[in-house]
Amino acid sequence: MKKIALATTLALGLSTAAFAQNKDWNFGDGETPERWGAINAEYAACDIGKMQSPIDLTNPDVIGTVNLTTNFGQARGTLALGEEKVQIDFAPGQNKGMMSGTKAFNLLQVHFHTPAEHAVNGMRYPMVAHFVHATSGGELGVLGVFFTEGDSNPALASLLNAHSQGNGTALSVDIDDMVPDTVEVYRYMGSLTTPPCSEGVNWHVANVPVEASADQIAKLTAALGPSARSIQDRNGRLLVAPE
Ligand SMILES: [Zn+2]
Repeated sequence: MKKIALATTLALGLSTAAFAQNKDWNFGDGETPERWGAINAEYAACDIGKMQSPIDLTNPDVIGTVNLTTNFGQARGTLALGEEKVQIDFAPGQNKGMMSGTKAFNLLQVHFHTPAEHAVNGMRYPMVAHFVHATSGGELGVLGVFFTEGDSNPALASLLNAHSQGNGTALSVDIDDMVPDTVEVYRYMGSLTTPPCSEGVNWHVANVPVEASADQIAKLTAALGPSARSIQDRNGRLLVAPE
């Protein structure tokens, strides 16, 4: 009996250690500063960076329309699951992405947070999708879309179906089901919201949420757990808000 218990403990310990090599940090309660820089020196920017994300999208410096167009539609991808992670890695070569001003961003992946990370006037939606893009030169651009409770979302239905089949499941989703019909965005320069919190990320956050059913939001919340970083100081950064 004792031997079995010891063996179990060892096995669990080893698997935890193996996992930690890939991910050695966790989200907190979404309000207390995470102090990820204290966990790993490579995450120093999380604590000392002056252009961190998410922020509260309030008191904009400029009210104006950001010139943004998207080219999404039906897309093929693979489900990537992990601790605090539900993500679709899109297959390359599908020519999906967004044009922001003169910058062409290619869509790489979409992942989710529960609740949403960016706040609007102090309020957080129950969920957000982050569409992560990069230019050909490696500059990152993210489009965030909030979810609010309403009708069932067909793209999330496909995602949850794949989720029940596990990591690595191939799926196809219509990305436009997860994006407002008319995309108007908040725009500012920030960072990745997870370690290493790299800055230079072109943030775009849609001002209108899309709908998902209460059941869909509950299932993703159960899969992710609390997965929103605390709100970061704007430090005088320019924030453009749509009209
Ligand atoms: Zn994210």
